[in-house]
Amino acid sequence: MLKKVIIFLSLMLCFTCSGHGPGVFLSNENKPIYKSSVCDPDKSFPQMILIPFFERASQIVPNCQTYPKHETALALFIFYYKWTEYFGDRDYAVRGMLEKVMIQWDTHKKVSKKGYNLKGEPFEDRNIIGRVESDSMTWVWQGYDHRISQSALFHELVHMALRAKFGTADPDHEGSKYRGWTRAHSVMIIESKQMLAAFNL
Ligand SMILES: [Zn+2]
Repeated sequence: MLKKVIIFLSLMLCFTCSGHGPGVFLSNENKPIYKSSVCDPDKSFPQMILIPFFERASQIVPNCQTYPKHETALALFIFYYKWTEYFGDRDYAVRGMLEKVMIQWDTHKKVSKKGYNLKGEPFEDRNIIGRVESDSMTWVWQGYDHRISQSALFHELVHMALRAKFGTADPDHEGSKYRGWTRAHSVMIIESKQMLAAFNL
């Protein structure tokens, strides 16, 4: 009887943890590594810190306040929660992207020679607050009022998620030159930011 119960329970567990949604991150198997990866205000900056719960994800920080790793981890959780709610992630491409992303925080904005606004209109020489640098790396200005929810992090993560899913980051957003980014992606970013702001971040 006991054997049957155990088999039943393990089957149930297999069933319920078959890997859908944000719960997949919660194992935190690398806890000892994350514990030793901490920001040290007495050392020189920038410093690279691992982001707990997200395998090899990391951030490069210009100071220890921008941002504590648990705040960045929560931002990534919220991003994935919202992404799966809107678009799903059956092939785990977005999860895989989040598990290796490197976020470089900056206290200064940058000037970009060329780019597109959200509507897809091209611009030149404009201040930018975020930019995808590669498949796994993004540069992000710290955000207005020093809040992650007021930064371009989620915007850049959508670019990277699209690249992971479809091979192109869709640089012109809702414009029609490149495909991938839809109105729903813009709305998802707004909702993710609101959710993060509810945590005072
Ligand atoms: Zn963009």
